[in-house]
Amino acid sequence: MSLIYDGAIQDVIDSFAKLPGIGPKGAQRIAFYLLSAPKEEARHLADAITTLQEKVRFCEICGNVTEESPCKICSDPRRDRTTICVVERPSDILPLDRTGQYHGLYHVLGGVIDPMAGVTPAKLRIKSLLERLKDGTVTEVILALNPTIEGDATMTYITRLLDGSGIKVTKLASGLSVGSEIEYADEITLGRAFAGRRSTDE
Ligand SMILES: [Zn+2]
Repeated sequence: MSLIYDGAIQDVIDSFAKLPGIGPKGAQRIAFYLLSAPKEEARHLADAITTLQEKVRFCEICGNVTEESPCKICSDPRRDRTTICVVERPSDILPLDRTGQYHGLYHVLGGVIDPMAGVTPAKLRIKSLLERLKDGTVTEVILALNPTIEGDATMTYITRLLDGSGIKVTKLASGLSVGSEIEYADEITLGRAFAGRRSTDE
């Protein structure tokens, strides 16, 4: 039988071990770090986790995470309202915005079409995207989905929906290698992918 710690310390280890990217060893290191950390630091972490789900919600327009809806991007008058960049997750927005190549709006789909996993177009925020395109302000939709089979299929699906709408549909240049994720790509690679974006028809 392997040795486990008692009570509170094991409770913290188990909780951290469940989080993405942290294995049992990492969870143990965090637990022991917190044990000897200044009390305020540990309390701050506990408070931040508690308020996360209470305060953070999703922007009613774009689906980004925000404490106020509409979010800062949607309510920023300096943003270019003629372009919408479509992403899979809220965590894709920051790396794309940091490239400085893009000053338009965003739209979070909430995933990609994946019939095997039960994700149909109706489960994604596609309808609300079409709603945003109705008034004719938007002239270009940039599809910045991850280069996976499902991502590609979703880009094709949206391109077909917008066929004949007069809206230009583009996707990021293929600087991103297959399977690589936008969330973890560096700014230079993403900036190039933005600058070299091309029509999905080509
Ligand atoms: Zn927003």
